[in-house]
Amino acid sequence: MRKMNLHGKTTTEIADLLRDHGITATLQRVEIARILLSKKQHVSAEQVLEKVNKGRSLVSKATVYNTLRLFAAKGLVKEVIVDPTKVFYEPKTNDHHHFFNVDTGELTDFDVDFPLVDNLPHTPEGMSVVGVDITVRVRAAHA
Ligand SMILES: [Zn+2]
Repeated sequence: MRKMNLHGKTTTEIADLLRDHGITATLQRVEIARILLSKKQHVSAEQVLEKVNKGRSLVSKATVYNTLRLFAAKGLVKEVIVDPTKVFYEPKTNDHHHFFNVDTGELTDFDVDFPLVDNLPHTPEGMSVVGVDITVRVRAAHA
């Protein structure tokens, strides 16, 4: 799989990556991709909006939301939906699962090398399983 660390990548290289995923490279999309893919992280649309604008208003909220949805649909990033108000985006990596800290709102990765769910129900007629994503909600345990 293509390495996704874009730290220090030129605008042209990011634009090429977008095109490789069937995404038309606009200036705004390149800037959003640069933020998302610069390191391994989970970011919300709000955080992307803040980082891309840095006090200016270069990109609208609607553009950020639409761009993130497009990136996820094209397989450039992975979308992690904790609940409808908490959606995170991360560079596309191997399949993994998440711990979600309900107190801090922090999402962390965990990997297992065995299936977490053994007895999946039969898929609907003509369907096959493409992935199982598990989010385990946690909070600090009090003694
Ligand atoms: Zn993750």
